[in-house]
Amino acid sequence: MKVLVINAGSSSLKYQLYDMTDESVLASGRVERIGMDSSIVTHEPAGKPEVRQVSEILDHVTAVKRVMEMLTNPEFGAIAHMSEIDAVGHRVVHGGEAFSSSVLVTLEVKLEIRKLFDLAPLHNPAHMMGISAVEANLPGVPQAVVFDTAFHQTMPNTSYLYPIPTVLYRRHQVRRYGFHGTSHSYVSAQAAAYLRKPLESLKMITCHIGNGASCTAILNGKSYDTSMGMTPLEGLMMGTRSGDLDPAIVPFVMNKEELTLNEVNSMLNKHSGMLAVSGISSDMREVTEAMEEGDKNAKLAFDMYCYRVKKYIGSYAAAMNGLDVLVFTAGVGENSAALRKAVCEGITFLGIELDDKRNAERRKDTREITVAGSKVKVLVVPTNEELLIARDTFRLVKQSRTS
Ligand code: AMP
Repeated sequence: MKVLVINAGSSSLKYQLYDMTDESVLASGRVERIGMDSSIVTHEPAGKPEVRQVSEILDHVTAVKRVMEMLTNPEFGAIAHMSEIDAVGHRVVHGGEAFSSSVLVTLEVKLEIRKLFDLAPLHNPAHMMGISAVEANLPGVPQAVVFDTAFHQTMPNTSYLYPIPTVLYRRHQVRRYGFHGTSHSYVSAQAAAYLRKPLESLKMITCHIGNGASCTAILNGKSYDTSMGMTPLEGLMMGTRSGDLDPAIVPFVMNKEELTLNEVNSMLNKHSGMLAVSGISSDMREVTEAMEEGDKNAKLAFDMYCYRVKKYIGSYAAAMNGLDVLVFTAGVGENSAALRKAVCEGITFLGIELDDKRNAERRKDTREITVAGSKVKVLVVPTNEELLIARDTFRLVKQSRTS
């Protein structure tokens, strides 16, 4: 079975075509600048050179049509005909309380996703455009949706409720949802498999540290708490997001700087975090380079960033009354030995003993970076959200065919 995975944004659409017989990627790519003049399609067929085309793509329907042309191109395509695509899986950011697992797309599912537009105004409408565009281009092909929030629906109410008037939860579903669930779910399962232990038997903290960043406490194999909240703004310091701060800062700054709600929202989401403190970049590589050249603000940004990861690890170890496994994943977590060292140093009291040599190794596979006998095992696990989406889609379509 061949499964196409789609991650549709408002002006972009990423895709991967999987052959589920061996889970190999046949081709991947992205369409950027949808709705603008000179849209760019970058297509990467497995084992062949990358292809780049510039043209006008005014909407998502045309974007998916262009993806189909790429995938079936006799020279650089991956399949002979569109009919070879058996199913399509979509990443959907917000599943609210309605979805605690991946589901096949039905009319009811689409209506539920629409109801959640308020909670994810930048993401869910774009995902719906992706779903409709696939319907238009591949009529009758089953589609599945995999939610970033679904994995965290197991959190107890002590984790997901905010201490504010409960009417706000009842009326507007103001609560913690958490994000990056596909990644936390994937890497926790990979870590347990690597250690040859049942996931349910491990107290685990997974740190997804990329441009966006979140930590999750996983108890009995389920998400018990996570650092992102009702939106992805809460929690760790990130590339451009502030993460946790005193909520009273918002009205104070709005008043002093005469900012509108939109302006303050943009400040906290796009102009804060690593970018604001370093004054250099939101990109960890650039900040690390500047720090190594002696830039004091870069060093402060790096230190604050790592300190906040460390605080979350400590609080989640307390929340679970112990810790067996700590996992680092995503762009920074997988690649920055400096971050892992800074975070793990000084939490030896938890039973973490980092092996500096293992930590410094540049590898792309799942590996342990603690010394033999370390009470808490620290692993680096490359995340693969697209593969999990492909697997869930494959499973759901297979189940629907046999039932
Ligand atoms: P992601 O959002 O998962 O794609 O992660 C993006 C982040 O990973 C950016 O801040 C990058 O600077 C960071 N990153 C990627 N490679 C490295 C590396 N070799 N060392 C440090 N940070 C990296």
